[in-house]
Amino acid sequence: MNLRLYCLVMMVSLTGCITGSNATFIESENQNSRVRMIVIHYTSENFADSLELLTKRSSNPVSAHYLLPESNDSSYPHGKLKTYQLVDENRRAWHAGQSFWRGKSGLNDQSIGIEVVNLGRCLQQKKSDAYKLLGRNILCSFPKYADDQIDQLIVLIKQILSRHPDIDPTNVVGHSDIAPGRKVDPGPRFPWQRLHQAGIGAWYDETVATNFLSHFSTELPTVETVQKALSIYGYRVEATTVWDDQTRAALEAFQLHFRSHRVDGEIDAETAAILFALLSRYRADQLQTL
Ligand SMILES: [Zn+2]
Repeated sequence: MNLRLYCLVMMVSLTGCITGSNATFIESENQNSRVRMIVIHYTSENFADSLELLTKRSSNPVSAHYLLPESNDSSYPHGKLKTYQLVDENRRAWHAGQSFWRGKSGLNDQSIGIEVVNLGRCLQQKKSDAYKLLGRNILCSFPKYADDQIDQLIVLIKQILSRHPDIDPTNVVGHSDIAPGRKVDPGPRFPWQRLHQAGIGAWYDETVATNFLSHFSTELPTVETVQKALSIYGYRVEATTVWDDQTRAALEAFQLHFRSHRVDGEIDAETAAILFALLSRYRADQLQTL
């Protein structure tokens, strides 16, 4: 049998063929996607500058799998919003940097990065009486995300999840979640709850959170318990039993995601209640250990 005929027969019978690499491809049923996470960023730049930064070589090269423009942007040349793909999903984009989530670090290896055009940004302030946000001496501005842009993002993420169905809801995160203290994007105005309502990512049950709130309003959990709870959920926190910078940074990242109306890096009954409600929904077996 000649090679071409063999190939045709194999395609019909075993879905096997001689590939371009000269290897015979017989697809195993025993496999899954290498992609375990979706990481959401804001660009801090307009569309044109973001596209340049994310696609051209530079001294500090960065990229992402997807770039989502916003319509209220004079540098965006089209009326209707388009989704831009910059890196193949099976290849590694350079968006996460030093990062950690649920025991794993260097998350470019296993994540899809989405850059959403939004001019959120923070400036370090030197004066001690500077406007404080995020519990530090940092001045930030966080413009609202437009509805049509979030609609577009939801469509994109749903498509990604259909191709990589093993992505856990708690593995749809912000850059701030995986790099606390270093990154604040996509910022406190990113609509995580709306994404959850569309079937994307994690959120807590309000009734469960209310029950925990009445408990924690009487007595806050200990520092060690908060540290262990944050760590179980996914954040990089060591149980030092001391309220230290790593704990404050992780709690701030948690608040950015789940309690964004007050982001101060300090534990309070509401933050603790939301954290425990999330554990009871997504980490029920480990909640028992606290
Ligand atoms: Zn980022």
